Amino acid sequence: MRIDIITLFPEMFEPVLNDSIIGRAQKSGAVEIVCHQLRDYAFDKHRRVDDTPYGGGMGMLMKAEPIALCFEDICKQIGKRPHFVYMSPQGKTLKQEKLRELAADYENICILCGHYEGVDQRLLDEFVDEEISIGDYVLTGGELPAMVFADALCRMVPGVLSNNECFTEESHFNGLLEYPQYTKPSNWRGIEVPEVLLSGHHANVDKWRKDMSLEVTKKKRPELLENADE
Ligand code: SAM
Repeated sequence: MRIDIITLFPEMFEPVLNDSIIGRAQKSGAVEIVCHQLRDYAFDKHRRVDDTPYGGGMGMLMKAEPIALCFEDICKQIGKRPHFVYMSPQGKTLKQEKLRELAADYENICILCGHYEGVDQRLLDEFVDEEISIGDYVLTGGELPAMVFADALCRMVPGVLSNNECFTEESHFNGLLEYPQYTKPSNWRGIEVPEVLLSGHHANVDKWRKDMSLEVTKKKRPELLENADE
């Protein structure tokens, strides 16, 4: 999968997406993340990417044309039109199921990071395929949401994690939260690891994990159980 990110702050992505699991996935070729400096596409007299909103009001808005030019250049670079996502507090809240669908459906995704008061509505209407939010609160820019989205998306791409179980067992994959986990030592400050986990009996361990997964979900996020897979 290739992810193109349109942003005024490409340097913010460097330390986050070029390190650890996503960094290794890029080196292995499983994913490619390319950031584009929006200012490079501001060709008017003042090279402005923002301007005041018609009708008055606070703050500035991102202009449509530099974003359109940048997106069209990305289409040219990759030889096709990527699925175009605008990170926005007005979008549908991101869920694991959505990430699974996007990773399965698209080889190329382009993410637009807004700033200031947002983006000229005409650009959104004409170019953007969908708006995605990372929660019902407002951040100063789309860079942090784009990092959250890109990281979570990459985890769904085959070859990024060492094994599919790494994510199929995790919270939210099947609508449930993950079971509790323990590591060495088996006795920490007098507290023992549940005995079944030391038994070596795989069927019992599986059953315990399934039961605990249900119990944890019921306790922490009971509303998830209404939509959980069988
Ligand atoms: N005026 C906009 C509104 O009320 O809907 C909010 C603009 S916000 C200050 C600036 C940018 O941050 C947005 O264009 C968007 O890209 C990003 N952003 C802020 N909160 C977000 C969220 N919860 N999810 C995704 N993106 C968000």
